[in-house]
Amino acid sequence: MAQRTVPVPEYEMAERVELDPRRSALVIVDMQNDFVKEEGKLVVPTAQATVPAIRRLLESARDWGAMVAYTQDTHLPGDPEFPIWGEHCLLGSWGWEIIDELRPEPGELVIEKRRYDGFYGTNLEYDLRVRGIDTLVIVGTVANICVLHTAGSAALRWFNVVLARDGISALSDFDMEATLRQVHFLYRGIITTSDAVTFKG
Ligand code: ZN
Repeated sequence: MAQRTVPVPEYEMAERVELDPRRSALVIVDMQNDFVKEEGKLVVPTAQATVPAIRRLLESARDWGAMVAYTQDTHLPGDPEFPIWGEHCLLGSWGWEIIDELRPEPGELVIEKRRYDGFYGTNLEYDLRVRGIDTLVIVGTVANICVLHTAGSAALRWFNVVLARDGISALSDFDMEATLRQVHFLYRGIITTSDAVTFKG
């Protein structure tokens, strides 16, 4: 068998990222009970540990008046994703709900999505554009699935993408590193940590 251990290519970690709150949004991907909580149907074991980092960003965005958007994985009975992943995030179920610790406030955008990409078949692009948003700080789960597809889809639309690593959870270290490398290398995103990001007017 061929050697399967490969080094992770270098990518830069930004130490400070100052963002204009009028043009920046925090996008929290799929932090729902089914993915985060022990009793969930498709648990990402490290997701709960990312909650403090996401809360820090959420509080900062709210304090400075930056837009907050959530994606919410949403499926109807018989969804074609179920043969792949099993039933999860069934519309209206407990597992579908966004976790209490990150509960959206009135006026914050919640985007129900069917697929990994938060833009596909949703109003997300429209709702960002009409507010003049050009930069997205993306956190949530799962790194190489909904976070990566949403980040890639944003970058293809020429939004600037910032990933706060400690606010993202993956099913393996490989998936996490592959995601960060891809966003940095291909999408020219900024990779950083939650405490390095400030939304300042
Ligand atoms: Zn799903």
